[in-house]
Amino acid sequence: MSHPHPELSEPPALPEGGLRVIPLGGLGEVGRNMTVFEYDGRLLIVDCGVLFPEDHHPGVDLILPDFGPIRDRLDRVEALVLTHGHEDHIGATPYLLRERGDIPLVGSELTLALLDPKLREHRLKETVHHKVKEGDRLSLGPFDLEFVAVNHSIPDALAVAIRTGAGMVLHTGDFKMDQLPLDGRITDLRAFARLGEEGVDLFLTDSTNAETPGFTPAETSITPVIDRVFRESSQRIIVACFASHVHRVQQVLDAAHAHERQVAYVGRSMVRNMAIARDLGYLKVPPGTLVDTKDLADLPPQHQVLISTGSQGEPMSALSRIAQRNHNFVHIEEGDTVLLASSLIPGNENAVYRVINGLARWGARVVHKGNALVHVSGHASAGELLYCYNIVRPRNVLPVHGEMRHMLANRDLAKATGVENVVVAEDGVVVDLVDGVASITGKVDCGYVFVDGSSVGDITESDLKDRRILGEEGFISVIVVMDSVSGKVSAGPEIHARGFVEDAVDFEEIKQPIIDALDRAVAEGNTDTYQLQQTVRRVIGRWVSGTHRRRPMIIPVVIES
Ligand SMILES: [Zn+2]
Ligand SMILES: [Zn+2]
Repeated sequence: MSHPHPELSEPPALPEGGLRVIPLGGLGEVGRNMTVFEYDGRLLIVDCGVLFPEDHHPGVDLILPDFGPIRDRLDRVEALVLTHGHEDHIGATPYLLRERGDIPLVGSELTLALLDPKLREHRLKETVHHKVKEGDRLSLGPFDLEFVAVNHSIPDALAVAIRTGAGMVLHTGDFKMDQLPLDGRITDLRAFARLGEEGVDLFLTDSTNAETPGFTPAETSITPVIDRVFRESSQRIIVACFASHVHRVQQVLDAAHAHERQVAYVGRSMVRNMAIARDLGYLKVPPGTLVDTKDLADLPPQHQVLISTGSQGEPMSALSRIAQRNHNFVHIEEGDTVLLASSLIPGNENAVYRVINGLARWGARVVHKGNALVHVSGHASAGELLYCYNIVRPRNVLPVHGEMRHMLANRDLAKATGVENVVVAEDGVVVDLVDGVASITGKVDCGYVFVDGSSVGDITESDLKDRRILGEEGFISVIVVMDSVSGKVSAGPEIHARGFVEDAVDFEEIKQPIIDALDRAVAEGNTDTYQLQQTVRRVIGRWVSGTHRRRPMIIPVVIES
């Protein structure tokens, strides 16, 4: 967890007529996006997403934004605006609603539909929904919202313009500028220009690909590659992609139809999301193409296609289990083709290559980003961002959605087009827009909130440190029984180790030094159990680090008898 800006303290009271921006997630990381806007004592939240844990978060299921800074003001929240249906934008919504269930939710048809099963999973029934589409305007308290179509790697994404007495904010959400998208719905640059003419005082822009020069290639550039893979495959084809990438699934369905194959979905979220997308008309399934997994298995392999989750190597996903040949009904065979039609999110490299190796070991041909153009990003590259700055001509810019390097690259792009004031802030850093000028005015405490099984926020960074030590170094327990009358060791030390050195004989040489140290401590008048335990810990800890160069977790137990 980073604590940037040690020089900053709590921000002063917001001047009348000013707008405060409090980023609670997504600035300094790719994930758990959440930004709070405050005007005239009222709050508006844009997005409420999750971050997926990495190897240094053992046992953690999800990471949430920290609601701490607004927890005592949840009654003042006018609405939560959801820009699109990706997990890093909607995934934490149920956790926020568990704290106040009737926060109005504002989003497009598909975004709200993808959120719905999550709300039901958390048994949230009394939720309030405002379904909006591009061009709509909606007034909530002092916030006047206008929605703008943007093109991204999920359909029905929206940018949002927020008008208040402090001026106009334009938040792009996640976007790119594919000029020939599969659904024909382009980023509405005419609206961006119109808002720019009116005057955008603060422009929040997606930084994800700010370091990537040029333009993000069109989605349609993948179509011939998918077609070639289908043409060259004489057996079963398994395609893995994000369970929300409706357009990628559409491309695979179309290719399957053209090559006389039938398709089944594998993985709970894929089945669920694609049913939603189909019901709402965002996914057009060619007649007769989609079948049950059971029926698919009855077809000859050259007529089978599976569309699966697990493109990031997630250990419990369908694709991981297929690679280990322990999936219930999909048995990978020599000559099968696996197509990973997805990006490789930083941090997932090892997991993804483990899956690729596993599949290749069974004789499958694996086509992935590293050897073919099977994925294009959902985010605007530098060239597209430059266009946006020139079209919108904002007074102030706040780069969002990215690690520090992405946000700094985005700042440089804005500056290159002549934007004078670009504010780079991380999570918790407060930015005020007062008299048309945005500046950092303070910071609020906000950290990572870990979800572990059913517990939310109980696991701390120090628990994770313990888990990492246990995982990497193992642990040693030392049990000593002391006679409370004589002050002498009456049994033990009994030493057990797990994940360290299994052979108990190794510990023989340290037993006497422990007894001697305890004798000395008692002779010096230390009879407190806690202090005696610390003595044991010190002796064995020094020995372990000296002889074995290791720092396992040590659990000393002194029992008085
Ligand atoms: Zn997204
Ligand atoms: Zn995102």
